[in-house]
Amino acid sequence: MTLKPPFNTIPAWLIDMDGVIYRGAKVLPGAAEFIQTLREQGQSFLFLTNNATKTPEQSVQRLAGMGIEVQPRDVFSSALATASHLTDVFPPPRRVLVLGGPGIQAAVCEAGYDVVTRAEEAEIVVNDLDQDVTYAKLAEAALAIGAGRPWIATNADPSLPTERGNLPGTGSLIALLSATTGREPEVIGKPETRIFEQALARLGAAAPDTVMVGDRLTTDILGGHQAGLKTLCVLTGIATRAEAEAYDPRPDWIIPDLEAILNP
Ligand SMILES: [Mg+2]
Repeated sequence: MTLKPPFNTIPAWLIDMDGVIYRGAKVLPGAAEFIQTLREQGQSFLFLTNNATKTPEQSVQRLAGMGIEVQPRDVFSSALATASHLTDVFPPPRRVLVLGGPGIQAAVCEAGYDVVTRAEEAEIVVNDLDQDVTYAKLAEAALAIGAGRPWIATNADPSLPTERGNLPGTGSLIALLSATTGREPEVIGKPETRIFEQALARLGAAAPDTVMVGDRLTTDILGGHQAGLKTLCVLTGIATRAEAEAYDPRPDWIIPDLEAILNP
């Protein structure tokens, strides 16, 4: 199988996952064949996701269940980007209060930080989507942020698309904590240029040779454009065709699903 021109000549790809490869537990049309084709044709790729709730190993397992075989090194999440940023700006050892799940917890621990749960112990707050959030956890985060601790968010996506519809995302928790404290976090994930630079370095690719594939205009398309990549908007997630066509910067290509760029 091959990709349709001009996609068959693009050397490197950054690929969002939620709303592009799958929606909830459902693999999207053409996604498995697209990844298989990139591999067969020697076109390099890296999954680039704002979702830091899973470790790369967990993402690999989830993809394997959908018939997509990749390695942990093929997945770069905002959790890894956040840990890398932390080590640059606030080198370990330090105590970090993490509002988030296994993905960000593991990334922060592996970078050499102590993860704490009480506001009084925290030197830094890292904020991702915590799918087991409780009032008590929000209270500790709010107290630490309110006390002026650096507040770093893996991403600011307001919603998480699933097969049932959109669920609250990291941005929803940020909105709650902002309402409480009057502060805003430093955001690491897409559309910030830093995560694109880190991903390109990992891929060993130059921005002009690389396409960002995504479903969300305000992260994938805006961020890809700002980092100097070409952008491909897939309409299987957040953006509608009307929204994508009206958006500035307009995506370089807009397609209904990944099947649309595969030769039959
Ligand atoms: Mg997405």
